[in-house]
Amino acid sequence: MKLADVCRSMEQWAPLAWQESYDNAGLLVGDPSMEVKGVLISLDCTEEVVEEAIQKGCNVIISHHPIVFKGLKSLTGKNYVERTVNKAIQHSVALYASHTNLDHAPKGVSYHLAQQLGVHGKVLLAAENALKQISYFVPIAQQEAVRIALHAAGTGNIGEYSGCSFSSEGIGRFTPSVEANPVIGQQGIPTEVQEVKVDMIFPSYLESSILQTLKKVHPYEEVAYYIQSLGNSWNEVGAGFIGELDEAMSGEDFIQYVKKTLGLSAIRHTPILDKAIKKVAVCGGAGSFLISEAKRQGADAFLTGDLKYHEFFDGENSCMLCDIGHYESEVMIKDAIHTYLSNIFSNFAVLKSETLTNPVRYA
Ligand SMILES: [Zn+2]
Repeated sequence: MKLADVCRSMEQWAPLAWQESYDNAGLLVGDPSMEVKGVLISLDCTEEVVEEAIQKGCNVIISHHPIVFKGLKSLTGKNYVERTVNKAIQHSVALYASHTNLDHAPKGVSYHLAQQLGVHGKVLLAAENALKQISYFVPIAQQEAVRIALHAAGTGNIGEYSGCSFSSEGIGRFTPSVEANPVIGQQGIPTEVQEVKVDMIFPSYLESSILQTLKKVHPYEEVAYYIQSLGNSWNEVGAGFIGELDEAMSGEDFIQYVKKTLGLSAIRHTPILDKAIKKVAVCGGAGSFLISEAKRQGADAFLTGDLKYHEFFDGENSCMLCDIGHYESEVMIKDAIHTYLSNIFSNFAVLKSETLTNPVRYA
């Protein structure tokens, strides 16, 4: 197995196109044609994690946070980022990060945080502009072959349904020029063909590969098609997660429940509200940008990391805001990546890092 195979598998779950514009997810260090001996999964990539990988015979590290984030201008070892990258290069260890793309992916970071807490529901802020529609015209005899090829390329998936499309029959008209080489009809003669118009939905990031497939399998020299952006939000893709606990509980009980379930020593939270906690929103990592959406959807509590002092005021008296720590809100993604890759690859070790990379301590 090559490094490229591991990257491709990660990107089938969390396509790089879903990362935020400020992010730097993807392959950071390493030759994609390199043979994989073992994969080590970590939340952060540090010198200690690279050392652990070397000790355990792993030559690929998959982390959630990209060690190269703001860009590197030198590799002299003057800070931990440069030293980590240096060490990885010196020992031929590849570094790959799946960050905000994995936050947004179906069953991503926030989903797993919610799962641990027994919160069942949906994505809090569904992705916009992530879906498009392709409509193309094809002779009736070839409609099935084209449709099957396009589905294989990633069209027609809506929630738990695959192979979705809509066809309508009609008459296609064209006149081939003297330079044309038509499959049906003759140069200079107006032609009519019984055609089918097919509409399908697809993820925007697949546009170029879907067009390539269409042009490859469609019988016509000039394929008639159009692509439209859709206003539909994509409910499985997006930021945060919201749902309900099996049973409502008091604010005090909820705090104790979260501490116990996630094994936390402390939670920073706004004052306990005089209401039961049933609807809970979560966001792994720094999720203050979702406070207003959590409130809008009626969350009794919102759990995330990295809340600033003034952001705690935004809970008002409707939503209890809980800062459980950045590391603590995301560390469970290690298990999810481990399960995902272990199910795909059996010919090399996929291990979870045992290094505690959380730089925050509680006294
Ligand atoms: Zn994070």
